[in-house]
Amino acid sequence: MSATGPAAVRSPDFDYRGSILHIESLNLELLAQRFGTPLYVYSRAAITAAWLRFSHAFEGNSLSVRYAVKANSNLAILQLLAKLGAGFDIVSVGELERVLRAGGDPTGIVFSGVGKREDEMRRALEVGIQCFNVESEAELLRLSVLAGNQGKPAAVALRINPQVETGTHPHIATGHRDAKFGIDIQRAEALYRQATKLPGIRIIGIACHIGSQITQPAPFLDAARRIMALVDNLLENGSVLQQVDLGGGFGVRYRDESQLDVTALIGQLRQLVEKRGLKLILEPGRALVAEAGVLLTRVEYLKTTDQDRFAIVDAGMTELIRPPLYNAWHEIRVVTQRPGMPSEIYDVVGPVCESADTLGRDRQLTVQTGDLLAIMDAGAYGFSMSSNYNSRPRAAEVLVDGDHANLIRRRETLDELITHEELPC
Ligand SMILES: *Cc1c(COP(=O)(O)O)cnc(C)c1O
Repeated sequence: MSATGPAAVRSPDFDYRGSILHIESLNLELLAQRFGTPLYVYSRAAITAAWLRFSHAFEGNSLSVRYAVKANSNLAILQLLAKLGAGFDIVSVGELERVLRAGGDPTGIVFSGVGKREDEMRRALEVGIQCFNVESEAELLRLSVLAGNQGKPAAVALRINPQVETGTHPHIATGHRDAKFGIDIQRAEALYRQATKLPGIRIIGIACHIGSQITQPAPFLDAARRIMALVDNLLENGSVLQQVDLGGGFGVRYRDESQLDVTALIGQLRQLVEKRGLKLILEPGRALVAEAGVLLTRVEYLKTTDQDRFAIVDAGMTELIRPPLYNAWHEIRVVTQRPGMPSEIYDVVGPVCESADTLGRDRQLTVQTGDLLAIMDAGAYGFSMSSNYNSRPRAAEVLVDGDHANLIRRRETLDELITHEELPC
């Protein structure tokens, strides 16, 4: 493969016009001048298009699609998805409050996560979420007590670990034998029997989530078949189930991964679930937002050492930790093309004091100091995993809609960096 990577097939929402990269109708050079860098820019049209792929596969029964908030939890993104009809998959009370403030319907929320605290469960019971995806016996017992005290039965699905291998990065695989997530499939039936006797608990379904950035249909189908075999046993033994939540994890093309045919896959999953008279639920995160966002960053310096050429940029692992954390690959494009100028091979690195702070290695680029670069496919697990390490204020975020740019999070100020700190007297 060449150092520049393959020519990715992209949505028309990210295209060069003349020599300048645009997002929808807007020139990224002008956006960077207006809002500064590093800057996250998202396309409303691209998110909408990704959403429609999922909702069409459910023939418009959109509450079957629960957006995994952790992928990108900006209020404006949540509001957009809520207006499109999405439900939400949350993993904390913080995410719950975000969804409510963005106008999300509590009855379309599922609550996942291995470590739900009491205060989080209480708030979720109070607002009447649709379902708790419970991950252990201890959690089930805690929820039973709290729901009993609040006089509000908790609707519950048990999250089962189907013990499948996914072929994804080990940090984002969750459905293998030694994962901390879910309940062993061998113990599931006993726990279902126990759950039906617990006060405050109303079993409505079963759930699993096997990992993230899975680009082949086989692991999803493998997990679904194992879950459905368990469902058959449960139904035979008198359990009353309504829904089967097969989680998220639908992969996108960052580089040369195979293109997962989500429509075909959902068709197959629906068939497996619906022929038992049950309802399928999915929890996509990345697949709805990854390709809809770019991270804009400016080249501060070009530096040559004995070994390497570096393009040192003003974004780093504080803005986008996926490359150091998962060894993830993101395409890096120049925002303004310079035809006729020679290119060089660069490592694109950030300013953070860590050797891991590399956004891309060995990239063929035609750049000068001061040029803008676009880190592509940064809409998922970008801003939401960002940090203030090295006392760097968090980046701003912009949502583009046609020829209009909405600032949906302003850049943090230096005062805000220290606003929660106190000097002892
Ligand atoms: C992270 C997560 C998701 C979303 O994963 P994606 O790979 O972004 O689709 C869905 N469900 C659960 C339980 C998760 O933890």
